[in-house]
Amino acid sequence: MRIIGVTAWQVDLPLHEGSYKWSGGKSVAVFDSTVVRVTTDTGIEGFGEVCPLGPAYLPAYANGVRAGLKELAPKLLGEDPTQLLKLNHIMDAALKGHPYVKSAIDMACWDILGKVSGLPVCVLLGGRYANDVVLYRAISQIDPDAMAANVAGYRAEGYRKFQLKVGGDPDTDIARIQAVSGVLQPGDRLVADANTGWLQHEAMRVVRGVRDVDVYIEQPCLTYAECLAVRRNTTHPFVLDENIDDLGVLVKGHADGAMDVVNLKISKLGGLTKTKQARDLCVSLGIAMTLEDSWGGDIVTAAIAHLAASTPPSFQFSSTDFNSYGPRVIADGAPKRVNGRMSASTAPGLGVSPRLGEFGKPAVEVG
Ligand code: MG
Repeated sequence: MRIIGVTAWQVDLPLHEGSYKWSGGKSVAVFDSTVVRVTTDTGIEGFGEVCPLGPAYLPAYANGVRAGLKELAPKLLGEDPTQLLKLNHIMDAALKGHPYVKSAIDMACWDILGKVSGLPVCVLLGGRYANDVVLYRAISQIDPDAMAANVAGYRAEGYRKFQLKVGGDPDTDIARIQAVSGVLQPGDRLVADANTGWLQHEAMRVVRGVRDVDVYIEQPCLTYAECLAVRRNTTHPFVLDENIDDLGVLVKGHADGAMDVVNLKISKLGGLTKTKQARDLCVSLGIAMTLEDSWGGDIVTAAIAHLAASTPPSFQFSSTDFNSYGPRVIADGAPKRVNGRMSASTAPGLGVSPRLGEFGKPAVEVG
């Protein structure tokens, strides 16, 4: 089987809440996503998607996805999409870095492998452990009482895990964590995600200010060294996200005792193949995970569902259903949340059918 073409479309993903805000005043009103189709000489085609969280979150941006695909895709023509480790090796040899550019191609090739073998991607990623997986809800950064009201509202929709966007003024963030804590029930889980937004002295004040609250602290500062210093001065369960971008830092973090949970984002690591490697290592090392991506629509959500479904449930801290944050449907067959959980499709591949007719002219056409 050979790749004969790569096509990409730009798609806008608006939000029910109007915007999504996190640390340092960063926000996005309409997410700029890219849907990728890989076509083969057999007629089988696969789909992937990548959606950076705006241009200022990770070293990734939406136009960079399309520019990178124009550079990379011609070098993949003629290659076998079902030999995924080999394909990743070829991508890394052809384009240094830029994992987010490679993510949607890798995702589409897993979709192809599923369709060729007649198996859902979760089975190919290791096996389906459960019928559904647990989700968290990200709570956009606004005033403390309004965040508490949003948590209560999403709790009523079935969520039991909440990721507060903090990383702003430390005193306001302490108030945010305390206000939200007040509306939670036994068994709920609260994560305060600063998204690198605090300097070390600010993070130290926050963890002391909420020391009696049952809350996880996620990625308080920009660097690994700063986060490790905060970690060593708090008893809160600790999550690393932005710093965990390859296997080397995962091994170092484990050796240093730097975290209890890591967030594995598919495009941050470069696709399902590399996220599977990190996921499997975490299971071997005893590290729980949130399995997700930077953002996305129906196709990313489907990929997350397959990744999470193939992870032992005791290691799956949470995942998220990005396709519920906005009104636009870009693919049929994607998971839909039920009581704060979602299920991976039982169809071959990712189980999604993108609405290509609604996307307009392709942004990238190779082959
Ligand atoms: Mg995070």
